[in-house]
Amino acid sequence: MKRFLLIAVLLIPVAAWAFIKPVRVVAPELVGISCGSEFVCTDDASRYQEAAALYDEALHFIGSAVGSIEKPPRVIFCSTDECFQSFGLGKRSAATIGTFGIVISPRAWKPFYVRHEMIHHLQNKRLGMIKMWRAPQWFVEGMAYSLSEDPRPKLSEPFEHYRSQFKDWYTQVGKELLWTKASNL
Ligand SMILES: [Zn+2]
Repeated sequence: MKRFLLIAVLLIPVAAWAFIKPVRVVAPELVGISCGSEFVCTDDASRYQEAAALYDEALHFIGSAVGSIEKPPRVIFCSTDECFQSFGLGKRSAATIGTFGIVISPRAWKPFYVRHEMIHHLQNKRLGMIKMWRAPQWFVEGMAYSLSEDPRPKLSEPFEHYRSQFKDWYTQVGKELLWTKASNL
């Protein structure tokens, strides 16, 4: 029995590591990604400065436009599709994995994409996983597209609709009551 438990304890993290690829954000070094700081990692060390500048811009932008991020997220900037796909994230441009971290694809090295994902990180932090799971998509995505100041004049649907629905709601609610009202949605 003891031996069985020992084997189970040893194997479960290995299995999680193998099958739940997003958990790799916790230790990207193990898949060949280097972290120049606690918060900024990239698969192309020659682009570390560019990644760090995007990170700092987004963190300051969100801090003043949306709300302070007490525990900033780790962001992994992938310069290749191979790197991004190693996290098992499909066709999206970028992804936020709970409060563990953010992964940016090669086409998302732009200020508004990094801000968008940091807004999702802040939502996860402020509202918690359960509320986020229940929250309406017009709020979750509409807020990220709107407050990141995504410059695209027209997003593909349903996101354009989510963005305008959020804007209407936010005009009435205001910055002060944002999280209080959001937790009651
Ligand atoms: Zn989003």
